Amino acid sequence: MIGIFMLIIGLVIGSFLNVCIFRIPREESISFPPSHCMKCGTRIKTYDLFPVISYFILKGKCRKCGDKISIRYPLIELFTGILFLLIYLKFGLTLDLIKFTLLSCFLIVIGMIDLDTTDVYLKTTRSGMAIGVVFVIIAFFNGNSYLPFIYGGVLGGGVIGLIVLATLGRGMGTGDIEICLLCGLFLGFKPALVMLFFSFVLGGIIGVFLMVAKKKSGKYAIPFGPFIVMGTFIAMFYGEQIVNWYLSLMIIG
Ligand SMILES: [Zn+2]
Repeated sequence: MIGIFMLIIGLVIGSFLNVCIFRIPREESISFPPSHCMKCGTRIKTYDLFPVISYFILKGKCRKCGDKISIRYPLIELFTGILFLLIYLKFGLTLDLIKFTLLSCFLIVIGMIDLDTTDVYLKTTRSGMAIGVVFVIIAFFNGNSYLPFIYGGVLGGGVIGLIVLATLGRGMGTGDIEICLLCGLFLGFKPALVMLFFSFVLGGIIGVFLMVAKKKSGKYAIPFGPFIVMGTFIAMFYGEQIVNWYLSLMIIG
């Protein structure tokens, strides 16, 4: 029952994330006006009420002018819904459930905007970091270990920061530093290592593949943010297991 509830909450929040992804780069308000058709401006009422399902009822078109609505909107809603469900299944009814659903919202928005525009908007990363700091403070007052999260943030931001310095900002930029710092702060030190590892591996593989496929030169800019996001999702679900598995190999070796 709670699982279904999380799925539905995720679908509804995914609908809001779509609005953020579209409006933040355009410097528009994310709360007003409500969702409307890009072409004729008609408010898409049913679509707001039933994410995903409404898209198929409307057959992917605006009810009034028939303009096509991108399949991306229901896909992001579905992705958010499934992610929320998986986070619940992994963490149960704990503080981590709130923490990682919040992180996921930031990651989806930051990753998609980076993919669309190759820009990272500081208001998105900074608000995420502020929430990350709140969770560190909560851990501190609950008597839980909080230092690993600070180390995770320093590690994430530090590694990308060094790369930006070494490459004089060609390729990665300050936006990537902020995303990685944000993710490290939420994940903690060990999972942050896993996050970095998979960001670089996926970025390397997919980056080379895209360059070959598109026959672009080395100047071709591929945003790194989406790879940090993918690395973070892997670390969120499997970070501890991967680190422990790796350490057990070291001990046997
Ligand atoms: Zn329309």
